[in-house]
Amino acid sequence: MKRTLRNLSAVAAALFFSLSGLSQANYTYQLDLNKLDNGLMEVKLTTPAISEEEIDFLLPLAVPGYPKTNLAFGPMVAELTAYDKWGMPLPAERIKPNRWRIRDAQGLQRIEYKVRNMWKYRQQNSVFLPVENFFIPGRAFMLNPGGLFGYVEGMEKLPFYIYIVRPKGLFASSGIKGMAAEGYRDAFSFPSYQELADYPILYTEQRPASFEVANTTVEIGVFSENDKVNPQRIQKVYQPLLAKLADYLGGSLPADKYAFLFFFYDGEILFQESVEHGNSSAWVWPEKWDPKLLKAANLEEGLEKVDMHKFLHIYAPWNIHSEEFLQFDFDEPQKYRSCHQWFYQGATEYLFYHARVNQEMIPEKTFFWFVNDFLAAMKDFRSDVSLTDVSRRTYTDLADQHMNLEFKGTIASLLLDIELRARSGGTHSLKKLVKGLAARYGRYKAFKDEELFGIIAEMTYPEIGQFLKDHVGGTKPLPINEIFNKVGMEYDAGDNKVYPKEEATKEEMELRKEWLYGE
Ligand SMILES: [Zn+2]
Repeated sequence: MKRTLRNLSAVAAALFFSLSGLSQANYTYQLDLNKLDNGLMEVKLTTPAISEEEIDFLLPLAVPGYPKTNLAFGPMVAELTAYDKWGMPLPAERIKPNRWRIRDAQGLQRIEYKVRNMWKYRQQNSVFLPVENFFIPGRAFMLNPGGLFGYVEGMEKLPFYIYIVRPKGLFASSGIKGMAAEGYRDAFSFPSYQELADYPILYTEQRPASFEVANTTVEIGVFSENDKVNPQRIQKVYQPLLAKLADYLGGSLPADKYAFLFFFYDGEILFQESVEHGNSSAWVWPEKWDPKLLKAANLEEGLEKVDMHKFLHIYAPWNIHSEEFLQFDFDEPQKYRSCHQWFYQGATEYLFYHARVNQEMIPEKTFFWFVNDFLAAMKDFRSDVSLTDVSRRTYTDLADQHMNLEFKGTIASLLLDIELRARSGGTHSLKKLVKGLAARYGRYKAFKDEELFGIIAEMTYPEIGQFLKDHVGGTKPLPINEIFNKVGMEYDAGDNKVYPKEEATKEEMELRKEWLYGE
């Protein structure tokens, strides 16, 4: 009885506050995809209650997955107006391309603006299409929350409610849990701007393909301007590939859902780009295929080649990350930058190559070609800055070193893998470490940046901690020859390649087998 009463009074209080507008501590966004205004998307926002005189309303300059701060979301916004609860406009001035200063903000109740179609301006304004917004009215909408929805500075950690009315006959795909492929109206919410920004949505004429891989529902959404590509064509390539990956990872994956969102355009081949999110990835690819230009015989080979790296991010950073990762600042991303980007990118990339040799999808010889490619790629980058420093400073002075996180990060991960095998008599591995870290942390539990090496040392061996301190945190050259020797191989510093040793010992050969084909 008591409990019922308390609940009732809580409901009454909530009602009172919401009617008086006092308790409004969230953002509510509304879109109607049927009602473009001259090709512009109308965005309606009911703002959270504001206690300051003056606030800044922002669109991001950067988003996770894009290591620069030059996104042109602001200039794509037109006719922004702020209103109070009587529907009277409040002073709102654009003080930077992506920033509006709103005065008398205590009275603020709504903001309305329009977003231009980046597809129309792609040649002039696009910075990175997979994170931008484009509309092919009636046929397709690639919606990226970062370029569509804004936030009040300092109030990013409030819930965001999103309501979208969709055109008849369009299907939706996204990593959003519970979002149905069919429907007329979508409603979902996220606890913060950062979470919202991680979920692009593709609305398209084609029904998405959906299938299970281990415990994960995989969705493939496709828009193809001339209907050259359908989701089944991509499913044919990815379903067997993902099944092998799931086997490699022990038959269970740390994601309920994963979505591949593909936008295939007609005409001249100008872009082939993609971006990775926590449990989805967005791709802008040409319909026409030019084997020379796109470095693959056909779409199928192209899909296979561009790898499952993006998918494997369901481990790191999605389920393995430091506190900085949960603090992304969309205006000044350099503020919180984890020093373990090398791990999020390098270990992910390495696992994909290792999975393929491990599951006998590629022969050993091909695997070592890849290794040598990575060794060659690393050479083009500075060796006097550590991977830790590059990780932390990719938005500032070491932006040009960003790609090395993947190249050197992959080689560092590979050497770690051999070391783990060597120290454990073949039983430990990088894959086990990654799985162990994902189980120990997960989506919302983060470690402190400075703790990771210690945690890994504790979960493995003190020598592994020292390796990380010296060669990842420090600038000591990676002990490539020394470690490859343990698996019967040697590194020729002259031509910067690894080769099988002429006289490898039985132990070395056994360790190589464990390393490449072990559990
Ligand atoms: Zn990546």
